[in-house]
Amino acid sequence: MSSCFRRKMDEIAESTIPPGGWGPGEADYLRAVRAACRALSLDIISAGEFHIQMWSTVDRGLTRAWGEGMAECGLALDEMTPEERERLNQELTPRLQRIDPLSDFIVRSRGRGVALSAAISERLRLWANDYRGVRTIAAAMACGNRKKQWVRGPTKEPCRSCAGFANRVYRYSVWLQHNALPQNRALCCNGYRCMCRLADTNLPMTKGAFPAGLMCG
Ligand SMILES: [Zn+2]
Repeated sequence: MSSCFRRKMDEIAESTIPPGGWGPGEADYLRAVRAACRALSLDIISAGEFHIQMWSTVDRGLTRAWGEGMAECGLALDEMTPEERERLNQELTPRLQRIDPLSDFIVRSRGRGVALSAAISERLRLWANDYRGVRTIAAAMACGNRKKQWVRGPTKEPCRSCAGFANRVYRYSVWLQHNALPQNRALCCNGYRCMCRLADTNLPMTKGAFPAGLMCG
């Protein structure tokens, strides 16, 4: 765990912008999260206002991400199954619960005349990958039979999961079943700096059992 953490810290110098850049929904999400954090950090809004603002940002943003994932498979948000709605709620809940700890952290580390200290920016990286991660879960549920190949992102040192999954081909539903999805917190890197993606492919399915032992969560 500690060596994993150190590796993450080593990667901080690398760009956070994923290959292909941010999509518009993702960019809006990050902008709104940063704006709320900045306002709290500068004491422009109270912790209570921060809570309300962040709650709505996370709720709306990740629902939009879910819609983008469904759209990849030709479906619209209002075509969600009850199962999909439940999973979206499962994804939202822990993130909404992390708003108050984030607020406490910002209030504790403010007051040095800097809007977003390095420590706060560092925390925000944890939130940055959520949009993409949720969008992938939605797509995996909406078109589970599609074959997907794991394509490694340009991080210098991949974690055990990302390195081991590279180039493997399984159905979306199989990746999902193991939570083996890019940016997922169950990966050995906690999805923290993960820039991997699952790409459509016509390559043959990887033979043998799924290497579930490559997951940490
Ligand atoms: Zn990765």
